[in-house]
Amino acid sequence: MRMALLRAEQAAEQGEIPVGAVLVAPDGATVLACTGNLTHTRRNPVAHAELLAVSEAAERLGGWRLLGTTLYCTLEPCPMCERQRWASAFPAAGAGIAGRWREVAGGASGRCAVVREARFTTG
Ligand SMILES: [Zn+2]
Repeated sequence: MRMALLRAEQAAEQGEIPVGAVLVAPDGATVLACTGNLTHTRRNPVAHAELLAVSEAAERLGGWRLLGTTLYCTLEPCPMCERQRWASAFPAAGAGIAGRWREVAGGASGRCAVVREARFTTG
C-alpha cells in the first residue's frame, strides 16, 4: 500500500487525480505493476491506475489471467476498473485492497458494485 500511496502522490504532482495502484503476484511479494492515474497526461479516459496496473501485469506475465493476484489501490476502484480486475482473476478471483472505500462510486462495495451483480459477472 505504501508503494500505491507514493504513486498517488506522483500522480497528484502531475496534475492527475491522485490514485495509485500496485498489483502483487500470488506469492505476495512480487510486484507485477505499480501505476498511477494518467488520464490527463495521456488524454485517455480509461487510463485509470487500476486498469494500467492490470494491463501492465498481463503484459509482463504474457497472459491476461491474473489468478491469485492482489490489487492494492489507494481508492476503491470505479466500476469499470473493478469489473476488469474481477474478469482477469476469474474464476479464482484475486483480492482487492483499497486504502479508501467509496460508498457511492465504488465498484466493489459501493452502490455501483459490479461484482455483486450476476449480470456483470457471468458469461
Ligand atoms: Zn477506474
